[in-house]
Amino acid sequence: MNTETTKPVILTGDRPTGPLHLGHLTGSLQNRVAMQETHDQYVLIADMQALTDNAHDPGKIRRNILEVMLDYLAVGIDPGKTTFCLQSGIPALHELTALFMNFVSVGRLERNPTIRSEIAARGFERSVPLGFLNYPVSQAADITAFGATAVPVGEDQLPIIEQTNEIVRKINNQAGKSVLTECRAIIPKVGRLPAVDGSSKMSKSSGTAIHLSASPDEIRRAVRMMYTDPGHLKVSDPGKVEGNVVFTYLDAFDPDEQAVAELKDHYRRGGLGDVKLKKRLEEVLENVISPIRSRRDSFAADPAEALRILKQGTRTGDLISKATLDRTREAVGVFSFDDQYELG
Ligand code: ATP
Ligand code: MG
Repeated sequence: MNTETTKPVILTGDRPTGPLHLGHLTGSLQNRVAMQETHDQYVLIADMQALTDNAHDPGKIRRNILEVMLDYLAVGIDPGKTTFCLQSGIPALHELTALFMNFVSVGRLERNPTIRSEIAARGFERSVPLGFLNYPVSQAADITAFGATAVPVGEDQLPIIEQTNEIVRKINNQAGKSVLTECRAIIPKVGRLPAVDGSSKMSKSSGTAIHLSASPDEIRRAVRMMYTDPGHLKVSDPGKVEGNVVFTYLDAFDPDEQAVAELKDHYRRGGLGDVKLKKRLEEVLENVISPIRSRRDSFAADPAEALRILKQGTRTGDLISKATLDRTREAVGVFSFDDQYELG
């Protein structure tokens, strides 16, 4: 990508902890596909961040780097318009993280609501890995290294963006000049897609995800497991639409809003059974996933090409991040051998 461009910069990414799912599509991927037309976009595969709660299983992360790359290409993130980078291939990001760590307190990280709920969900309690607690700081390094002003993410990432901007302001204030750039989250219409059981957000780690590579059979099974209204026992009973996961998914993925509105009326009145409703959702999801699945199959035939794209982008990312690191080292007063010193 052209680093001289004046287009606003986007940085987003994903942890390579599994193939991407429908939550990623609504939460971030659709925005990325649209925004790559007007922005200078960088997409980071955050393998170092994935290690922070998966150090016992690094093989999972290594394998999923390719899976995530294939998902990107399959949904239409275009290597001609977007630069793909691998986090562990950019040492400057980690040095920047080390500098940033001095501008955040442990208490502030522990109060971050996303971190709090993720620690609880993983049952870490007091044995939370230090790297995990610190991941918002490393994410702040990722975002600022690229000079990103826009970050398309799901709702769960809002507190992380806030934390990033706090670090930026502290460093800029201390330096008395604008060394780093503040950013804003771009949150889509469906910023938090629930898991099929409605209990939490769909996530790779929870094992309840519908992957973008799901087969028709996997889609059918997932939709069958989906929660509806527990009070809707007989077809003739009036049913609830609010909190009904099937309707949440229809709202997110069915292009025919009018038809969904009619289904909602019918369900509320009674007379519309869950089986029929789920059949429609199954068709809608198959229509969303099938073109992604077939594009993915064709990219999967040449994995070396996908990894070559990632390697090339990582080199570009390395150059950009190094420039930000040099500026930040100078701003926070780190010794440099390049400086001129009076030795006498
Ligand atoms: P993990 O369980 O390993 O944390 P994840 O499914 O939460 O995986 P991430 O890689 O952490 O996925 O998130 C990548 C991006 O996708 C983030 O911007 C996040 O906000 C967004 N995202 C993830 N899950 C959802 C969801 N269910 N709804 C909307 N956006 C989501
Ligand atoms: Mg996550």
